[in-house]
Amino acid sequence: MLKQRTLKSLTRAVGVGLHSGQRVEITLRPAAPDTGIVFRRVDLPNAPDIVVSAESVTDTRLASTLSCGNAKVHTVEHLMSACAGLGVDNLFVDITAEEIPILDGSAASFVFLLQSAGIEMQNAPRRFIRLTKPVEVREGSGPTEKWARLEPYHGYKLSFEIDFNHPAVDSTGQRVEFDLSTGSYSRDIARARTFGFTKDVEMMRSNGLALGGGLDNAIVMDDYKVLNADGLRYDDEFVKHKILDAMGDLYIIGKPLLAAYSARRSGHALNNKLLRELQAHPECWEVVTFEDVKQAPVGFAQPARAW
Ligand SMILES: [Zn+2]
Repeated sequence: MLKQRTLKSLTRAVGVGLHSGQRVEITLRPAAPDTGIVFRRVDLPNAPDIVVSAESVTDTRLASTLSCGNAKVHTVEHLMSACAGLGVDNLFVDITAEEIPILDGSAASFVFLLQSAGIEMQNAPRRFIRLTKPVEVREGSGPTEKWARLEPYHGYKLSFEIDFNHPAVDSTGQRVEFDLSTGSYSRDIARARTFGFTKDVEMMRSNGLALGGGLDNAIVMDDYKVLNADGLRYDDEFVKHKILDAMGDLYIIGKPLLAAYSARRSGHALNNKLLRELQAHPECWEVVTFEDVKQAPVGFAQPARAW
């Protein structure tokens, strides 16, 4: 049987929120089979839980925000991406403020935390959402058109195309494809950082956003070039970060997908719209388990390879 996974032990980190600039402690703890990923606001009275689901997404303007009643958690996508990339199904995430720490701006710190706690198999079948028919969402038209699509595929593959009309971005790879069965999430995707432009950062700060952002946790660009002294981590780091974000946004559906995702100029909002479209069309997918691990797509039977 292909089994669900959680952590072997708990692990903790301290950082600041990208937008709030607030100090936050995060504790990742093992959770029982079929718990899913649950955020717990331990700083609020009665420590409310926020269970991950497509409907729990209430704001997608700059990051993916989940809510349950008045309890919120902002900027979940990089941690969710690390969980998707390493195949962690069940996890409690205790936080002491409303935003997940940005750490180095990528998913690499979360991968490190999860791997150092150790990943444990659980005695329950891993349930996948397997696409049987394509599902697609579109916005706009012509050169500014955005779209995102899920299609049947025996495995999990993502391809993304960006178009920023900025010299520092346009001189790098604009399109990338990543297949979980042949690539290594930790090596190929997890290290790609979030990015921003100085003119937007100034505007965001005047609106009380991006207060925790800087050259330590983002690629920052002026009108012409990357300002980080060490340059980029990958030649195509920008589009790879979009794959990283998409993996996190899609994992919010609560189960791993067996599908090919492709997108052009998509973001947190359109990715969430795609999940809602998928849920609205149950005739396009089925939930499957693998009694015989040999029937599972290549690479899914074992926990993700290390670096
Ligand atoms: Zn991101």
